[in-house]
Amino acid sequence: MSVELTEKELERYGRQIMLFGEESQKRLKKARVIIVGVGGLGSVSSLYLAAAGVGKLILVDKERIELSNLNRQILYTTKDVGKYKVEVAARRLKELNPEIEVEGVVDEITEDNVKDYVSKVDLVVDGLDNWKTRFILNKECIRQKKPFIHAGIRGMYGQLLVVIPGKGPCLNCIIPSLPEEEKAFPVLGTTPGILGLLQATEVIKILTNYGTPAIGKLIIYDGMDLSLREIKVNRRPNCPVCGGI
Ligand SMILES: [Zn+2]
Repeated sequence: MSVELTEKELERYGRQIMLFGEESQKRLKKARVIIVGVGGLGSVSSLYLAAAGVGKLILVDKERIELSNLNRQILYTTKDVGKYKVEVAARRLKELNPEIEVEGVVDEITEDNVKDYVSKVDLVVDGLDNWKTRFILNKECIRQKKPFIHAGIRGMYGQLLVVIPGKGPCLNCIIPSLPEEEKAFPVLGTTPGILGLLQATEVIKILTNYGTPAIGKLIIYDGMDLSLREIKVNRRPNCPVCGGI
């Protein structure tokens, strides 16, 4: 299927088309991306992916907006408290960019529905705050050979792992067993802001084939002394999730 860019789109995306060209912009327009969790991370990644012109965004989150979300979940305002996150998010993103399609789904990813969700998209963005769901998504992305862009945050600390099935390690290679879940943890709003931006950057690079994706390195952000480090990470040949591909 070939897509064309309208005059309006050429103008809207002009500054990034200067960077990577019209063909890359068309790739973005054709792309479908799911963002699982529109909290602190998902607020930021979804805004930038919508602004960049990713053709279809699917947002999945079952929660309603709470007052205590607003220090970091910048898609939402005070008057949105009590509403479903995906409903407000879809409306905001459409206001930002009416050229794209945005679908908000009040749901939770489980072993039973993950296959359907992942099959609808080209790439999966992790906006989650729990490991169980991340492991489910990582596994399904490996199975369907779709990129999975993981990020996790706590306090002033964040991490990013770009999983490209068959090319670098998966989440399970570097975290072999399910970490203990934490109900409510401390977060400075800027931490998911920074990690969400790194995720959006990698998504756009992968979809447009521009630059080099961060494969095989775990990126560690530490806001306490403001450092961004990378740790080389390898595939585990005996990884139960990706060892066989
Ligand atoms: Zn693996």
